[in-house]
Amino acid sequence: MMRMTPAAPKVVAMQAMVLERLGEPLKLVERPDPKPTDGEIRVRVAACGVCRTDLHVVDGELPKPKLPIVPGHEIVGRVDAVGGGVEALREDMRVGIPWLGKTCGHCRYCREGRENLCDHPLFTGYTRDGGYASHVVADARYVFPLPESGDDVAAAPLLCAGLIGWRSLKMAGEGKKIGFYGFGAAAHIIAQVARWQGRDIYAFTRSGDVAAQAFARKLGACWAGSSEDTPPEALDCAIIYAPVGALVPAALRAVRKGGRVVCAGIHMSDIPSFPYSILWEERQLQSVANLTRKDGEEFFAIVPQAGIVTQTVPYPLARANDALADLRSGRLQGAAVLVP
Ligand SMILES: [Zn+2]
Ligand SMILES: [Zn+2]
Repeated sequence: MMRMTPAAPKVVAMQAMVLERLGEPLKLVERPDPKPTDGEIRVRVAACGVCRTDLHVVDGELPKPKLPIVPGHEIVGRVDAVGGGVEALREDMRVGIPWLGKTCGHCRYCREGRENLCDHPLFTGYTRDGGYASHVVADARYVFPLPESGDDVAAAPLLCAGLIGWRSLKMAGEGKKIGFYGFGAAAHIIAQVARWQGRDIYAFTRSGDVAAQAFARKLGACWAGSSEDTPPEALDCAIIYAPVGALVPAALRAVRKGGRVVCAGIHMSDIPSFPYSILWEERQLQSVANLTRKDGEEFFAIVPQAGIVTQTVPYPLARANDALADLRSGRLQGAAVLVP
């Protein structure tokens, strides 16, 4: 596919990878360019990260997706059309579009500053069209301005793996010894933040995944092993990024008295039953849902300070199905990113 150059005409057909029916491969389709309405912008997509949540969407593991849907919620691009009433963004600005696409603004959660739990939200790439496309329309209020220059592919995974990873790190509390279960796109970013904060990182991977363990050590982990292993010291807290329910009792066994285990994913296989003794002594189990715009503002301020460098594997947009398959099989190190 041709990459658009600044000299290209602005009105072109939009290319998108579309999920028509759950469980089927995405199809490359051409659509008329979407028009932003009042309060919206249109973005010419430069890069869109592939998140594990996209797998849960295409596999039908999340309730009531919009169908057909264009997946993708780690979007970096430039504004190329602005709807009425949008003051904060203008054409050619470099922006990021995250998972949280819209909130109602008046439910109790919105009023309490917990818009991540809004009763009537829209989510990018799930209940409104996302970034596996050449163009995407977004509600301007939920879009993050990004620095004028920068590597678009490298920035894409920050929009969810980074941002919801950051929320999960806050939820984990202040503990110095922190465990990460699953060392993929989110953990490889959040490990860099945790190191910058001066924490000690314990990385847990699939049994025998020595490549992921070496990757974790390279990013500053003081210990890396299999998720069945007992770490050399009891942890203060642990974050579970892998969608595997069996990791919950494993992580509870790894944390000290009063320690906390955070489940960062949107979907997990069932959690096996476990003895109360591993939750006893004031251990806590917590899930993380979505993000707030405040999480994004905090996180994008930290990115340059912590010197975060992402590891990415770019794919052409038309190969989105291959990117999803590689993520599913655990073949990726770092984050897959689609480039239209
Ligand atoms: Zn709400
Ligand atoms: Zn995501």
